[in-house]
Amino acid sequence: MACVSFPYSAPVSQTLFDRASLVTPGGVNSPVRAFRAVGGTPRFMVSGTGPYLTDADGREYVDLVCSWGPMILGHSHPAVIAAVQEAVARGTSFGTPGEGEVALAEEIVARVEPVEQVRLVSSGTEATMSAIRLARGFTGRAKIVKFAGCYHGHVDALLAAAGSGLATFGLPDTPGVTGAQAGDTIVLPYNDLEAVRAAFAAQPGEIACVITEASPGNMGVVPPLDGFNAGLKEICAANGALYISDEVMTGFRTSKAGWFGVDGVRPDLMTFGKVMGGGFPAAAFGGRADVMAHLAPVGPVYQAGTLSGNPVATAAGLAQLRLLDDAAYAKVDAVSAEIRGLVSQALDKEGVAHTVQAASNMFSVFFTDGPVRTYDDAKRQEAFRFTAFFHSMLAQGVYLPPSAFESWFVSTAHDSRAVERIAAALPAAARAASEATA
Ligand SMILES: *Cc1c(COP(=O)(O)O)cnc(C)c1O
Repeated sequence: MACVSFPYSAPVSQTLFDRASLVTPGGVNSPVRAFRAVGGTPRFMVSGTGPYLTDADGREYVDLVCSWGPMILGHSHPAVIAAVQEAVARGTSFGTPGEGEVALAEEIVARVEPVEQVRLVSSGTEATMSAIRLARGFTGRAKIVKFAGCYHGHVDALLAAAGSGLATFGLPDTPGVTGAQAGDTIVLPYNDLEAVRAAFAAQPGEIACVITEASPGNMGVVPPLDGFNAGLKEICAANGALYISDEVMTGFRTSKAGWFGVDGVRPDLMTFGKVMGGGFPAAAFGGRADVMAHLAPVGPVYQAGTLSGNPVATAAGLAQLRLLDDAAYAKVDAVSAEIRGLVSQALDKEGVAHTVQAASNMFSVFFTDGPVRTYDDAKRQEAFRFTAFFHSMLAQGVYLPPSAFESWFVSTAHDSRAVERIAAALPAAARAASEATA
């Protein structure tokens, strides 16, 4: 751990964290929220407005996490809040079909051309788990290919060499996943089509699907090289396997049609989450109608959910998506570019080796000379410099993801005032990064 002094305490957060740690493992309900990789006390947030979060000690932060992606309109957007209030006044769950689910499904199908049919679920994890099951059921094959550094939720078969918290904490895989569950997973280096070709050649007729983050954001932002996704699609098609594009993070964030809207490579199945829920637990998987027809109740592949298509969650998601027009994406892209420029400038000024990588408005800062093309490249960064940078920004009221292996997120609400506050914090943070020692 770097030699970092924490410039201020957070007494109310500390008290809450102490309480939380007694009743919840590590005091958090998702490991990436803990400050284990950077040290210190996680801030307990009590409210959010636009680009700002306020913690339990009454301090305001410019939020560059945006709930890990979903809050692309900023916090408490009036139209989303109104839609939620209107929906919740009619009841919270019916266990029957409802119009909100139809409207959200129609919106997804209208935006993302390869999605002919879609099934709503409650988390990205459920979406990828269900998509993998469907691919196996459709092809009658067992094996799946994933890439090192890609995270697809905490699905047993997909936790090998995964990104997100597993990258943050340096976990190659996890206990609790049996050999049988992991044994059918083939993990390959990202951006390496030759490795994919070799895997198919070595196991003819056995691979059900290739699943990849459309543009990875869970090992930091590592966009696909030109032709990588198209190559995956082609190899899958040639071998009777399905190409699954995980757009839980990129979907409805990197463009109106997510990463598909950027590279135009047509997946057989896609998964969504984060932005489409408007801050509520809503996610989805969808794609080719002939494949989706294998799902119950039409087909034999079982998949279900008590709260799937929840009326409050679908109202929030729909309200958010309807506000995400070309102008909104232009705004998010522009503010992302501005912040990237400022970060790079500040680090350059202090002579800190770094690479800022972006996929549309998603971006992250690697503390290493680039380019970063694979998970191994990402792991070569000097994460101790990020720790010092992170705490300096936090002390100055800018909330970054508490890990060097995560994307930073901005929103339409990040205005010039918010950007100025980031700009004001950067010189000291860059200095802290340059002075940090391993
Ligand atoms: C966040 C994420 C998931 C998991 O979604 P949850 O809602 O956290 O279960 C899956 N895939 C990708 C690419 C993600 O970024």
